[in-house]
Amino acid sequence: MPDLTAATTALALFSTSSASLKNAIDIGQKLKGWVKGKNDPEAQQMVSDFLSALLSLQGDVIDLQQECTRLFEENRVAKDHLKYRAKLIRRDAYYEFSEPEEGYGKGPFCLQCTDLNGFPIGVPVDRNGHFHCSKCGSSGYLEGKAPPAVTENNLREEFRRRR
Ligand SMILES: [Zn+2]
Repeated sequence: MPDLTAATTALALFSTSSASLKNAIDIGQKLKGWVKGKNDPEAQQMVSDFLSALLSLQGDVIDLQQECTRLFEENRVAKDHLKYRAKLIRRDAYYEFSEPEEGYGKGPFCLQCTDLNGFPIGVPVDRNGHFHCSKCGSSGYLEGKAPPAVTENNLREEFRRRR
């Protein structure tokens, strides 16, 4: 995956920067030791300030490295979701996969929540094929599981059957 390569390169760059900084800090420490032997308080202060600035920079690099790692993981998850999003098949009231997908199953997935979040949001189905999304409240039946619509003709038919 090209994104993995880019992120790995970025992480390696941070490690290199970190190593370069560590090297600069080591030199700064030596400089501090060297200037300590001289009777020059101004130079000592400058070296001390310089070291503080380097240490602060090292903290920033570590923060950036952590942020980069976090973004990389977020990007990986988003790519993963998009990959699965593209495979969804739309039914009347829900989405599903033609084949179960690792980590998601086959579905059904909520239409609204999936569209809103950009990745499949599963909904529980009861034994009658009725599903209900606890997040957005939408509900429906799996294809072929819906009870017959309540129409005048259907009611008349039902009434006739029961007599
Ligand atoms: Zn929903």
